Amino acid sequence: MSAPVFERVALIGLGLIASSMAHAMRRAGLAGEITGHARSAETRAVAREIGLVDRVCETAAEAAEGADLVVLCVPVGAMGAVAEEIAPVLAPGATVSDVGSVKKAVIEAVAPHIPEGVHFIPAHPLAGTEHSGPRSGFAELFDNRWCLIVPVENSDADATARLSRLWEGMGAHVDVMDAEHHDLVLAVTSHTPHLIAYTMVGVADDLRRVTDSEVIKYSAAGFRDFTRIAASDPTMWRDVFLTNKEATLEILGRFTEELFALQRAIRTGDGDHLHDYFTRTRAIRRGIIEAGQDTAAPDFGRGATRGEGRD
Ligand code: NAP
Repeated sequence: MSAPVFERVALIGLGLIASSMAHAMRRAGLAGEITGHARSAETRAVAREIGLVDRVCETAAEAAEGADLVVLCVPVGAMGAVAEEIAPVLAPGATVSDVGSVKKAVIEAVAPHIPEGVHFIPAHPLAGTEHSGPRSGFAELFDNRWCLIVPVENSDADATARLSRLWEGMGAHVDVMDAEHHDLVLAVTSHTPHLIAYTMVGVADDLRRVTDSEVIKYSAAGFRDFTRIAASDPTMWRDVFLTNKEATLEILGRFTEELFALQRAIRTGDGDHLHDYFTRTRAIRRGIIEAGQDTAAPDFGRGATRGEGRD
């Protein structure tokens, strides 16, 4: 056990990410006390029942009062309102962070509410599953995953280093990135792939020549993986696309062009084009395995890990 990195951590929102943080912080003794708040009475009751945090509070402000770290773990579209609510109770020297999947929009929504003397250091752990809610978290979610820290203008270096220590204590590797680049990288690695998965599952559902029961019965690895991704939380993903509009549209435009090129290669029987393309993409998969971000198991690592790199 290491010494606590923060005396009191407040988690606002008690879903997959917050509950995994609570377990991971407890595993390594990183927080003296953990308080928490969720919007609904139902989630708060579950959190109390399973003893997720030391104290479940009725309001976000109550949870944040006296905390030296407050982490906003709500959907991206709710971050600004939560920041506004907790602002009056934030003490000078405290740090506010978040785990939102989009960074530019969160910074625009939260930064104006951060009082003088309070550090605001946005972050994004690149780890997740398709499950949500307070029961879905587990201590190992961040192990060997990346957490991107996205300092804002004038972010305090000591406060940034302390937040990095917390994430490293929870098992993650930390990298620093600016908000605009973060949103573009995530549009490529996560947001657009999710949209494609949602579309593919929607197409299968709409295609009446193949029945739903056939789709379910014969779903081989490719489609099965799409359905897992497409089962992700609708609110979270609605907010991701509404707030990372620019980067997602740019990547979707490129994706559509490549798709048309492949479509043309299929129609014209251009096997060389298809073969070259698939050879190039295979190398990327190998690179991910070599970087330790997935296993080479033929089941796409499903059996090997519970955290499958969703973010
Ligand atoms: P989740 O399991 O759906 O939990 C969301 C939590 O936020 C719930 O406790 C919910 O409370 C609360 N909440 C929702 N709307 C709210 C509002 N308007 N005001 C106050 N609280 C509200 O979500 P999650 O997967 O932990 O995601 C949380 C954040 O992490 C999101 O910003 C997401 O972009 C980011 N993230 C997610 C993943 C992932 O793969 N899931 C990975 C990395 C980052 P109730 O239960 O009471 O509704």
